[in-house]
Amino acid sequence: QSFDTPQATRTTCPYCGVGCGVLASPQPDGTVAISGDPEHPANFGRLCSKGSALAETLIPDRRLLHPEIGGARVSWNAALDHVAERFCETIARKGPDSVAFYVSGQILTEDYYVANKLMKGFIGSANIDTNSRLCMSSSVAGHVRAFGSDTVPNTYEDLEAADLLVLVGSNLAWCHPVLFQRVLAAKAARPSMKLVTIDPRRTVTAAESDLHLPIRSDGDTALFLGLLAHLSETGGIDRAFVEAHTQGFEAALRAALPYGDLARLAAETGLDEPALRRFFALFAETERTVTVYSQGVNQSAGGTDKVNAILNCHLATGRIGREGCGPFSVTGQPNAMGGREVGGLANQLAAHMAIGNPAHEDIVSRFWNAPALPAKSGLKAVDLFRAVHEGRVEAIWIMGTNPVDSLPEADLVRQALARCPFVVVSDVVRDTDTVPYAHVLLPSAAWGEKAGTVTNSERRISRQRAFLPAPGEAKADWWQMAEVGRRMGHEAAFSFEGAAAIFREHAALSAFENEGTRDFDLSGLATLDEPAYEALTPVQWPVAADGTSKRRFFADGRFFTPNGKARFLLVAPAAAPATSPERPFVLNTGRIRDQWHTMTRTGRSARLSAHLAEPFCELHPDDAARIRVSEADLVTVETDHGSVILRALLTDRVRPGTLFAPMHWTEQFSGAARINALVPARTDPVSGQPASKAAPAALRRF
Ligand code: SF4
Repeated sequence: QSFDTPQATRTTCPYCGVGCGVLASPQPDGTVAISGDPEHPANFGRLCSKGSALAETLIPDRRLLHPEIGGARVSWNAALDHVAERFCETIARKGPDSVAFYVSGQILTEDYYVANKLMKGFIGSANIDTNSRLCMSSSVAGHVRAFGSDTVPNTYEDLEAADLLVLVGSNLAWCHPVLFQRVLAAKAARPSMKLVTIDPRRTVTAAESDLHLPIRSDGDTALFLGLLAHLSETGGIDRAFVEAHTQGFEAALRAALPYGDLARLAAETGLDEPALRRFFALFAETERTVTVYSQGVNQSAGGTDKVNAILNCHLATGRIGREGCGPFSVTGQPNAMGGREVGGLANQLAAHMAIGNPAHEDIVSRFWNAPALPAKSGLKAVDLFRAVHEGRVEAIWIMGTNPVDSLPEADLVRQALARCPFVVVSDVVRDTDTVPYAHVLLPSAAWGEKAGTVTNSERRISRQRAFLPAPGEAKADWWQMAEVGRRMGHEAAFSFEGAAAIFREHAALSAFENEGTRDFDLSGLATLDEPAYEALTPVQWPVAADGTSKRRFFADGRFFTPNGKARFLLVAPAAAPATSPERPFVLNTGRIRDQWHTMTRTGRSARLSAHLAEPFCELHPDDAARIRVSEADLVTVETDHGSVILRALLTDRVRPGTLFAPMHWTEQFSGAARINALVPARTDPVSGQPASKAAPAALRRF
């Protein structure tokens, strides 16, 4: 059956950063038929298990239908007045940095834009951060350090065009399935293409690869330092590119040379020398190489250095921004990229401009006619909730995310919210583990009910469109923020007619006084009227004033640093996880194929839940034998921050001495298996991204 009928609504999947196009057709019986959009350039009609089960997760029950204050139903006017009053009162008493927004890579660019404008332009604080901090902020920081801008140079087609695809800390097969399907199809058509996976676990991605390097936790920086040394020793450096278009190479190389000693490198990475030699030779001899990296790189106390260690190797070989050549960060969430574009991280301004850059601050201030811009960066996610815990932030608005389950040291986050004087939660459902801590609950429109845009991992902006009415009094997140902005006294700045008007303003800001000095440029979309916005087809930025779209960056050797040259970074491996006789294991956390985040949607699908039905912990059989744990035993996994009970899954997919447990289960779905309660709130010093994959842990039979 084809759903590509005039009745089908073209929209975009709300899950991972691949950003697949979806056709949604409400049926006469009240169900919705879902299929992949054959014309969307991210997926060409494909959908993964989560995308194809979207109709089962439309959540007719458990919806938050009306605004509530203190558990009692109130009108929107009463709720919005109350939020505005409490934020104004807190700001008047303790200053703008005493309030905060914590938003989500699930919200749309238009929602993000209004939230960021209100906090940074009109409240005058930069205390807006997002769950994208937990996902890819180390990539953002690494890009900015090397390129002078947060730019993903390449496209999905480059993954297909590469002769060598190196996947670092990425289980693409489960976490970005449609992109992996594209890669496998390319490899089937051109079997000479090689896949190398660098991951402590033998994931499905690793099993499909020509070479798997089961690296020890956080060994990646040493590995890429070793690769740089090898490239230098074997004549693999593109001297012309390095000299013309980069700076800092000699110092970076000097720091890397000791890692050229393979015996030392083998000890540091946990890899054997033949495997190291094979990987280095493949990289050195294959011009068309793409290195894809994801959470295994980003979620580390040395995540930004890992990113720059990878970028250093691509800059050294001049393999960047050309067909089949480049580094490629894949984002976890559907709109992590859109959030970056509006400046939705506490250390960004807007439209890829920077806090602390006087020229950027002047541009944004004049464009917004803003009364106050923040004097400094705001609090990043982990620090933000610490500030709530310590009473430095007294009012917080949480939108579209569930930090009581998803942040590290999640019990501390729960305590922080329990003691916070004023918590607002905007959400779709009323039974997340965060909702009980809200003083004000605001019902949000869900996927399929709201309209806006998202940007996927290859800079492609796609529309999400409504095909169902919002139930009860649920409203778009941008509308909620704008109404509070107006009630805080900023009528003119927040009187948007709709999502199209917000997008126009966002695009116009990207184009404002941008003479090619900033990467993010939507000049060609800055005057979209309502019908054109409605009809917008997927487009990659930048979009020039004449509507043309440039697909790749940096092949011309021009970067966005002050002198136009890319920077090599001096990087160092992060300290190994501090295991001890009491905490002998390294606990790695991550996603499984068929669940999404804290399961508020996917947990409702029987089909998706049948894949892996309960929380579990992967444990190597040698470790299991030593501590007398058998397959399917219940085990207690414990760290300095808490303990959970999980089902033991014995497998040599994990390295001896390591554990793997999924991040998804919550109190709502399992009673107690909140894995993030165990994860220490240790963060990367540059990006502030938590190290979610290397907690020292103990395991014993329950
Ligand atoms: Fe959705 Fe990602 Fe699956 Fe595509 S690959 S259908 S975007 S979850």
